[in-house]
Amino acid sequence: MEAIRIHEFGGPEVMNLETGADLQAGPGQILVDIRAAGVNPVDTYIRAGTYAMKPDLPFTPGMDGAGTVAEVGDDAAHVSVGDRVYLAGTLTGSYASQALCSPDQVYPLPDNVSFTQGAGIYVPYATAWRGLFQRAGGKAGENVLVHGASGGVGIAAVQMARAAGMTVIGTAGSEQGAALVEEQGAHHVVDHNVPGYTDKIMELTGGLGVDVIMEMLANVNLDKDLNMLAYGGRVVVIGNRGVIEINPRDAMARDASILGMVLLLASPEDLVGIHAGLYAGLQNGTLKPVVGKEFPLEDAARAHAAVMEPGAYGKIVLIP
Ligand code: NAP
Repeated sequence: MEAIRIHEFGGPEVMNLETGADLQAGPGQILVDIRAAGVNPVDTYIRAGTYAMKPDLPFTPGMDGAGTVAEVGDDAAHVSVGDRVYLAGTLTGSYASQALCSPDQVYPLPDNVSFTQGAGIYVPYATAWRGLFQRAGGKAGENVLVHGASGGVGIAAVQMARAAGMTVIGTAGSEQGAALVEEQGAHHVVDHNVPGYTDKIMELTGGLGVDVIMEMLANVNLDKDLNMLAYGGRVVVIGNRGVIEINPRDAMARDASILGMVLLLASPEDLVGIHAGLYAGLQNGTLKPVVGKEFPLEDAARAHAAVMEPGAYGKIVLIP
């Protein structure tokens, strides 16, 4: 098998392709031949050693992937050899040609969803679902601001909010990203780099403010967000890369809530609901992961640089 291995935490250059012995499924394990692996910003934090969760060295990075079941260990029989699946984490890392998984990390991939799309399901779509429905309680008739809609989580949030009957305002920082956000179902798109863009968002809501904000960069936006919320509004902090000063009175004045979330803290019961919702949406075509860039597996370092650059356009995936 081939896998990206990290022997020390550091920059993208610490990731190198290595060849090793093929894996075998032990009891309670499923072996998956990986056809595509998804690249997420969190993979870069883990690679750098700055994330709360630090794997033992050496390790193979990656939580997202899709492929076919190659082997099923004893007591892991909810899938069969040959099944198309997407992964919700792995035991051995997804930036590889093979990965071992526990049964709760393997989900059926509907026939209408490609492997490259399947590599962009778990982290982005489960995060968007948890944020929008389980944390914010978003519902039909409400409006939602997807603040950072052009990337992996944002596109997922736009598609599911639109399908759920919400009015969707998305933001992007490039023309290409804005066009994609509109194509994916946003009713309105605003550029988060243009001064005064929050006034435009308030105008779009008739001055009433937004019910739900899905926030991808809270350290830049949380103060502005509190001032854009409607009465009873909720902002879900999904992405954050630093500190910010806010005036708590802005939340008090509108009975607003600031809700934090980390996907890895979702309970097993919540995850059952999330994956059931995702499967239904993938199957009926309302959820369609957008693959913006594909890199060969050996170019994982380039993919990590790309995922941190501005001008997001859907998902970045690695092909073993
Ligand atoms: P991504 O694909 O790299 O997309 C990043 C998004 O942030 C793009 O839409 C980008 O827009 C946008 N952005 C850039 N500057 C912004 C600004 N000033 N205001 C608002 N948005 C801005 O990343 P992702 O996978 O969607 O993840 C988004 C964030 O959520 C990351 O920080 C990630 O680590 C975090 N995350 C957290 C969880 C969790 O469990 N809490 C799970 C998944 C992801 P342009 O490039 O068009 O400017």
